[in-house]
Amino acid sequence: MIQLIRGFKDILPNEIELWKHIEQTAITLFESFGFRQIRVPILEKAALFQRSIGEHTDIVEKEMYTFPTEKGELITLRPEATASIVRAYLQQRMYAKDPIQKLYTLGPMFRKERPQKGRYRQFYQINAEVFGIESPYIDAQMIFMLTRFFRQLSITGLEVHLNSLGCPLCRPAFKKALSGMLMEKGDALCSECIRRRDTNPLRVLDCKRPGCQSVVENAPAITDYLCDDCARHFDRVKACLERMGIPYVVSPRLVRGLDYYTRTAFEIQTRELGAQNAVAGGGRYDTLVEALGGPSQPAVGFAVGLDRLVDLALTKTRASELTPDIFIAAMGEAAQEKAFEWSCELGREGIKTEIDFSDRSLKALMKRANRLGAGYVLMVGDQELDRGTAVLRNMRTREQTEIALSGVLGGVKSQLRAASDGRPHGDSQL
Ligand code: ATP
Ligand code: MG
Repeated sequence: MIQLIRGFKDILPNEIELWKHIEQTAITLFESFGFRQIRVPILEKAALFQRSIGEHTDIVEKEMYTFPTEKGELITLRPEATASIVRAYLQQRMYAKDPIQKLYTLGPMFRKERPQKGRYRQFYQINAEVFGIESPYIDAQMIFMLTRFFRQLSITGLEVHLNSLGCPLCRPAFKKALSGMLMEKGDALCSECIRRRDTNPLRVLDCKRPGCQSVVENAPAITDYLCDDCARHFDRVKACLERMGIPYVVSPRLVRGLDYYTRTAFEIQTRELGAQNAVAGGGRYDTLVEALGGPSQPAVGFAVGLDRLVDLALTKTRASELTPDIFIAAMGEAAQEKAFEWSCELGREGIKTEIDFSDRSLKALMKRANRLGAGYVLMVGDQELDRGTAVLRNMRTREQTEIALSGVLGGVKSQLRAASDGRPHGDSQL
């Protein structure tokens, strides 16, 4: 048997209700905050990610799935969505129509990381991006929207970690101080971080190895190096969060794994998932649009990791499956023909109908209807056909009613409607 690729996974139907619920919650919420959906390709030119995420990041150095095309051009399975959305904003000249664009997208990302719990090579994100607004209000509003999102999913125990990464004016001084310190006190650094301290010292702050973490504990804090504008921006973000009652922790060593961030950087962490504790991350990237060849436009965004969110939600709610509204148990050729028509008609009416078109006994069919959790079973065989009726059984109350063959569709619909009055029907309740 051919098995799936390491680090990849199947998401089976019994989990899908939860995925759909999470996605739909995001869609409804984000749209109520003025975001519009965009879908961008899964493959892009490698250069897009190299230039945006940064040459000296883990993602670009070793995590991307990059292939040559037949013409020798390198293309990459997207490791994140922001770069593609910026590309679309530029290529489609969205900024010319209105520089302010609020966009969101959902979909799979690909990174060749070491697979482990909460870390896959194909994983799913929901992204939201705002272009054209520099104000700290929007940073705070995005964090507010994210906390609403988690609240709506009944996910608690989350912490907002906040930092400011400064701007091209003030960051160089910090970088210098940091690499100086790493040169002096960096004996315990791993070999990778020794390389990083020359190429990209900020990345050292993100290394998870204990030796590096202990070195980094004494690193200078970027928040001490912010220029006046960046400091004011950061203070405003914090004040706005306080005004909206969102607790946060300032983590001056928080950097993101992508080079394009400026000013606000944040991560939402949980205590409930072990090592892979980040469920969302984001921040401002005021220089990226211009760096990719566009006009100078500020931007801010975030990505939520859906896989980890599903894991968290599963600890709170049982995975639920869609159950059929009705199961049609048709015995015999003639009954099957009728049942075929009914199943098409009922499906067209939005009634979740299950039928297996097999020639099995009523007992076997009832067993399957039970296993599927069908609300009703519609039974029809030669005897019923002779009488000109079918039998509808309510699986909860066990009541049975006879319905004339000519009025089956109307009869089923009115019974279902009566039963669903006062309780949501069909959709799972999470
Ligand atoms: P981490 O620190 O966990 O590696 P990251 O900083 O690389 O995360 P981002 O690129 O900011 O993550 O992506 C945002 C979110 O996407 C993360 O907070 C996480 O929930 C999720 N995520 C990132 N990489 C993976 C992965 N390999 N598998 C599953 N989810 C992931
Ligand atoms: Mg990562």
